[in-house]
Amino acid sequence: MNGKFLSTENLPFCKGCGHHIVSQNLEKALSSIAGLSPLDVIVVTDIGCIGIIDKQFTTHTVHGLHGRSVALAAGIAMATEDPKKKVIALLGDGGATIGLQHLMEAAQRNINMTVIVHNNMLYGMTGGQPSGLTPRGFKTPIMPDGKPNIGYDLCKVLHATGAPSVRRLLALGDFTADLAAALAVPGFSFVEAMEICPSYGVKFNPNRKLDDIAKEAGIEIGHWQGPAREPYRPATHDAPASLFATEKPIAARHKAPLKERYAVVLSGSAGEGVQSAAEFLAQAALSCGLHATKKGSYPVTVGVGFSTAEILLSPKPLHFTGISVPDAVIATSADGLGKVRGLIEKMTQGTVYLDASLEAPATKATVVKHDFRAPLGGRSAVLVALTMLLDRAGIMPTDSFLDILKDSSLGKKIDFAKLRQKGG
Ligand code: SF4
Repeated sequence: MNGKFLSTENLPFCKGCGHHIVSQNLEKALSSIAGLSPLDVIVVTDIGCIGIIDKQFTTHTVHGLHGRSVALAAGIAMATEDPKKKVIALLGDGGATIGLQHLMEAAQRNINMTVIVHNNMLYGMTGGQPSGLTPRGFKTPIMPDGKPNIGYDLCKVLHATGAPSVRRLLALGDFTADLAAALAVPGFSFVEAMEICPSYGVKFNPNRKLDDIAKEAGIEIGHWQGPAREPYRPATHDAPASLFATEKPIAARHKAPLKERYAVVLSGSAGEGVQSAAEFLAQAALSCGLHATKKGSYPVTVGVGFSTAEILLSPKPLHFTGISVPDAVIATSADGLGKVRGLIEKMTQGTVYLDASLEAPATKATVVKHDFRAPLGGRSAVLVALTMLLDRAGIMPTDSFLDILKDSSLGKKIDFAKLRQKGG
């Protein structure tokens, strides 16, 4: 087949693999949808034999980590404004059980997508190991006497979540109509296509036919409908409109001269208030009508070592939270400097605020050295440095930061007269 949605009939699977049949039926089902173009379709795959089909699809394709295709597809579906776009996750039985929680969440929330699990009852790509869906008695290379326990009934699990449409079919012959019906569901639809892998399944279970295996294992073929529900849309459900929404809106009380994105990295020692200082700065930016993001980084042993925070400030919405080279870095301890030394060395401009006890790395940035730890101790060193940065950088009024700090429980304990240092 050389169709609209698959570019070739030479699919990359072993001879006789059921993935050929499912892919061809999917091609036909997509072609049967009037006016649907390949660019209206987003196919998401992950690791496993079915995942190597990406290149053959003429649609958008996204390839993810093993068992994560449903989570990726759910994110795409929730961000896709046009409900006519088809988001389809293709995965194997291994990926389905690895990502079972994602499947259940997508089904329960009724996210507008179709999931097709290619259940050949084993991990074909890695040598035929049994998966959670392998039925009792089915033989595999590492269980030559057959799997001793039953396989999960994925359809029953997903039906129990309230998914609108759950199907199980044998991937034999023409089942285009079943796939087209699944694709037409407004919301979450699930298809489990039962297959047998010629390379491992047939080899270890000779003379057993797919329908006999299903019958003997008590695997039902059918369609289970759940209650009709509106598909999940972030804007129409009680989820926050933005992942970065604050719990309490912060009223704009100040004006900021900032015209461009400004990136600050704070780095100190664990327990020295780096993360709180970063949050105060982000909140102060919001009080100036700016957009802000904050990311924290620290070792798993949160009470020792470095503590680093990245803050982005911008007059425009921030869609990317990464910082490759910052505009300013504050390092108030040896732990903190150790973490950001490489970043400082990459800076060709901007300013580094460094505690006087530390040796400056080689950098083209301006280095301001000051004893930030002296006025209020190590626990407030980042606050002292940040106040100096705001006084000098002119990105937003220092008072916006001080107001937020005064309103906090920490602010009640701080001697504000000592906080503001002139610096060199
Ligand atoms: S190993 Fe099995 S599942 Fe993988 S392509 Fe070959 S036949 Fe298909």
